[in-house]
Amino acid sequence: MYIPKTSSNYPGHFIGRDVVFVFGAGASYADGAPLQADILPLIMSDELPDIRKSKIGQTVTEFIAENFAWDVNARIYPTLETVFGFLDYFISQDEHLNAQYPNARIRAIKEGLIKLIHYVISVKSNQQGKTYRSFWEAVCRYNPNIAILTLNYDTLLEDAFSNIHPGPGYVDYCIHLMNYDLTEKKQMHRYPKPEAVKIMKGHGSLNWKYCHCCKQVLLTPRDTKIDLFEEHNGEDPGSSAKYYCPIDASEFETLIIPPSHIKKISHLVISQILSEAMREIRSCKKVLFVGYSFPDADVHFKALFKKSLSRGQQVIVINNTKSKTLKYNYLALTSNVQFIKLSFADFLGNQCLVKEILTGTGSTRSNG
Ligand SMILES: [Zn+2]
Repeated sequence: MYIPKTSSNYPGHFIGRDVVFVFGAGASYADGAPLQADILPLIMSDELPDIRKSKIGQTVTEFIAENFAWDVNARIYPTLETVFGFLDYFISQDEHLNAQYPNARIRAIKEGLIKLIHYVISVKSNQQGKTYRSFWEAVCRYNPNIAILTLNYDTLLEDAFSNIHPGPGYVDYCIHLMNYDLTEKKQMHRYPKPEAVKIMKGHGSLNWKYCHCCKQVLLTPRDTKIDLFEEHNGEDPGSSAKYYCPIDASEFETLIIPPSHIKKISHLVISQILSEAMREIRSCKKVLFVGYSFPDADVHFKALFKKSLSRGQQVIVINNTKSKTLKYNYLALTSNVQFIKLSFADFLGNQCLVKEILTGTGSTRSNG
C-alpha cells in the first residue's frame, strides 16, 4: 500500500510523506471510545458488572475507594491522571503506602487499572470502528503516502486497519517487537512485498508489554474481549501467565504513558518513537491534526512540533471544539495553519475535501 515518492531530480531519493496525521483523543472518541474523564466513573460504577465481580476489579476499585473521594451526583471524580500520579509516586520512590499496600502491590494495582481501562474501552467502543474505517478507506483510495502519530493508547485505529486491510498490509509501529521478528522476516521474503503503514504511538499502546530486563516490547494479540477473570498469580491482579518475558521470565508492564506524566517520555521506546515522528514531520508536506488541542500536560509535543515544523509546511486542524484557546495553541506553532471546523466523521464524509487534502490538489478551504 505504501510507495515512497521519489524526487525527479534525485531518482530513488525519498522525499517524505504527503501528509502526517496527528490523532488526539477526539479522533478515537468519534469511534465511541470513552473520553478520558468518563473512564474512572465507569470503573467505579455498577454499569459494568464484570468489574465488580472480578478479583482484579475488586482490588483496583477498593484501592481507589480507600484513597480517593468523589460525588456521583455532582459528577465529581478524581481524574485518571490523579490516580496514576498517586500510584506512580510510590513506584518511582520505591515507597510502600502501608502494610496493606507495599510497593509490589502498588505496581500490580497500576497494571490492574490499565487492564480495566483496556476493558472499558473495548466494551464501550464501537466495534466496527466506523470513523477509523472510513479514514483508512480514504487513505487507500486517494493517497497511501502518509504516516500517523497518535497520542491515543487504545488500539481502535489498528483494529480498523486490520478490518479494511486483511491482505498483505501490516502496521509498522517503528519499534522492535520481540515476538514479531520472525513474522516480519517471513513477510519480507514474500512477493509481492507487504506494504507497511507507519503508526507512531507517542503515548504507548495498551497492547505493548515492556520488559524492564531485556528492554524489549512484546505485542499482545489483539484482544477482542478483555477477560477480567483470567487466572492470576496470587494477589497480583495485573499478572497472568502470558505476560512474563519468554527470555528472562521478568514480569511485563503495559507500556502506556498516562497523561500529565511527562517524566516518562524519557522511556527508551517512547523516545525512539518520538525521534521517528520528528523525522517524519520534518520531511512531510503537511501535518493534519485531528481531535487534538495541545493540553498543557503535553508540553513535550509542543516542543517536538516547534522543533520539527518549518515555514513551508502546511498545518491543518480538524476540530469542532468551541474552545477559543485552541486556535492560539496552533498559531503558536506556525502561522501557516488552517482550521476546519468539522468533527472527524463529518470531515471524512466530505469526500471532495478529503481528496483535496490527501492529494494536494486545489486550495484547502479555510473556515474558522
Ligand atoms: Zn525480557
